[in-house]
Amino acid sequence: EAKRNGRNRYEYYDVRFDEENDEKFTLIQRLRPAVQANEFEVYYQPLIDLASNEVQAVEALLRWPQKDGSMIFPDKFIPLAESSGLIIPLGAWVLNQACEFCAKQHENGHTNLTVAVNLSFAQFKDGTLPAVVEQALQNSRLAPQFLELELTETILADENGTTGEQLEAIKSLGVHFAIDDFGTGYSNLNYLQTFSARKLKIDRIFINTLGIGENDAPLVAAIISIADSLGMKAVAEGIESKPALEKLIKMGCDLGQGYYWSKPLPAPEVERFLSNHPTK
Ligand code: C2E
Ligand code: MG
Ligand code: MG
Ligand code: MG
Repeated sequence: EAKRNGRNRYEYYDVRFDEENDEKFTLIQRLRPAVQANEFEVYYQPLIDLASNEVQAVEALLRWPQKDGSMIFPDKFIPLAESSGLIIPLGAWVLNQACEFCAKQHENGHTNLTVAVNLSFAQFKDGTLPAVVEQALQNSRLAPQFLELELTETILADENGTTGEQLEAIKSLGVHFAIDDFGTGYSNLNYLQTFSARKLKIDRIFINTLGIGENDAPLVAAIISIADSLGMKAVAEGIESKPALEKLIKMGCDLGQGYYWSKPLPAPEVERFLSNHPTK
């Protein structure tokens, strides 16, 4: 009897595994033509300077709208775009869209707005990234200091290949960097000292419990102090409540991002947000 249960359980997982693979396979099949037809949309989420309450930047976040009105989120398709290599054309497209968007906001009077773009490790594979970044800046005529590239710890920890050289080449264009999802990735922190990023973004898993208990923030306080001592701005991701915000202000966090102010919005809606809020 136990053996039969075990076997049934095994078969159950087996079926699920196939279904999951089928779904992934179908999605990869649909990804390629979607990239070619620019079926994606870039949403933007504001980053707020906690001291002045001004919008300092917007982060570009990819969305894949479906014909039936539903939306596929990046956590689902970015990994597939990475493993299939499609992240190279898709990532270049996002960079161009984001730089163009930011240049347009400068024309609209938000002359100090920065745009942040996420990068995947897989975008460093073919060595073309520095040229892609340079081209996006040229096409949009956005001054390089208003482009910020968000890197994960995995990218910065890579000691093989040409990642380091490419990052230096991009840095020499005048572009800035942020370290994303800090605290969830690689744990050798040596890169923090050698790679000078402008911002350290504290992952939202450390933020979403803030303001609930009394002494719930020692790790967040420690990360803010790491940022401070290395000359980086600390950014809290995923701020959803006033108590969390107040706690972060008390701890000296520099910038915040989260549903408390706004979800990621399509371009026309974030333009409205910018016109209703003070910007830098
Ligand atoms: P990320 O770069 O850490 O982006 C922040 C994520 O947190 C976004 O999820 C955003 O919608 C979400 N978020 C922001 N504030 C809140 C909040 O208050 N509460 C909650 N629950 N969530 C909040 P999103 O847009 O689904 O993106 C997920 C991840 O996908 C991003 O994480 C990034 O790693 C990746 N991604 C998105 N767009 C791109 C892209 O253009 N290129 C690459 N390579 N990766 C991208
Ligand atoms: Mg990010
Ligand atoms: Mg993040
Ligand atoms: Mg992330």
